[in-house]
Amino acid sequence: MNRREFSKMAMAGGAALLAPRLALASAESAAQSRSTPSKLDLLIQGGTVIDPSQNLHDALDVAIHRGKILEVARNIAPERALKVLPAKDHIVTPGLLDMHAHVYDGMSIGTNADHYCLGRGVTTVVDAGSTGYLAFPNFRNYIINRTVTRITALLHISAIGYLIFDGGLANLNWANPEVAAKMAMENRPAIAGFKVHLSRAITGANDVEGLRRAIEAGKIAGLPVMVHMDGPYSPLPDLLKLMRKGDVFTHCFNNHEHGILDANGKIIPEAKEARERGVIFDPAQGQTHLSFDVVEKCLQQDFPPDTISTDLTAMTVEKRVFDLPSMVGKFMAVGISLDKAIGMVTANPARVFDYGAEIGTLKPGSEGDVAIFELRDGKFDFEDSDGVKRTGRQMLVNKVAIRAGQIFVNEV
Ligand SMILES: [Zn+2]
Repeated sequence: MNRREFSKMAMAGGAALLAPRLALASAESAAQSRSTPSKLDLLIQGGTVIDPSQNLHDALDVAIHRGKILEVARNIAPERALKVLPAKDHIVTPGLLDMHAHVYDGMSIGTNADHYCLGRGVTTVVDAGSTGYLAFPNFRNYIINRTVTRITALLHISAIGYLIFDGGLANLNWANPEVAAKMAMENRPAIAGFKVHLSRAITGANDVEGLRRAIEAGKIAGLPVMVHMDGPYSPLPDLLKLMRKGDVFTHCFNNHEHGILDANGKIIPEAKEARERGVIFDPAQGQTHLSFDVVEKCLQQDFPPDTISTDLTAMTVEKRVFDLPSMVGKFMAVGISLDKAIGMVTANPARVFDYGAEIGTLKPGSEGDVAIFELRDGKFDFEDSDGVKRTGRQMLVNKVAIRAGQIFVNEV
């Protein structure tokens, strides 16, 4: 499903993919040469705007100027726009935000952000610990700085990150909170937090100490920690109790040992307490981390996820996960509304980390990051990590992604 060719076409300013600033500069000078203050670079006209950050769901126009949102309103005069993009019968949202992916393309499990993220309407992606402090400068220079999709990184508390997948915390000598915190503080906002990977197979009995070191780095740098907890060695309450307000429990709806449900299918009280304390619950599917049965039991107990993310890797782009719009369709298939699901991939993850820019919203002055979708009706089969299926009735198909005012046309 959804095998889409991604064709990049910079229509505003005709710039090359790798030179977005030049494109903006040329659009700016064109606007200035007309010297009409009421001019704007791009008008997205007549779409259904869904922006949960402002409780918007209405037929509205979106104006972008100099790479930022200028205005969202009814009937903005098309004569003001250097370019008009018709969006009638389409959904217009803030550019989507995938809070858990691995985009160190060409290295280990990494995949390509511009193809699988921007190419599907995802304008910002959080790389969840592909590198620790050893390789981060390389990742920044050769991936983050050369990718159109905005990439914000979580630094793996293990120096080697996922470069060797089971490097993790098998050896605690790799986890040095002071060095990791220093790397993070020297690289804001490219680094927005830390990642720690707690599963029995990788950490053995080191999980509590590994988490303690990640949180220590978080405290030194003043940043949140995303905690991978799927089948940890220690019982979940022993780990949850260490997590602070703003830290993220990723893979929260897995069905393995020491999960969120007790033997009777009830959410453990420590998980509810963690949510009340401000811990974020993120269900990133990955290869093995999402169970529809657990999702549905949690929804029945009024415990929806805070965010929706993919755990995108070179493997999951090909199987069961595919991309973030597919994950949105998957959560709609188990009963989450379109507006709530869009909030879980825009406004909600935008609040979790400091991205160094205002994103996940179409408020005036925020980044000119927008996604345009067809909301397709039909019967769509979605799979959890065990291959269990649920059938959805609607699916978002991305048509256009706009990153800082630049248009990328994505074709099905
Ligand atoms: Zn991951």
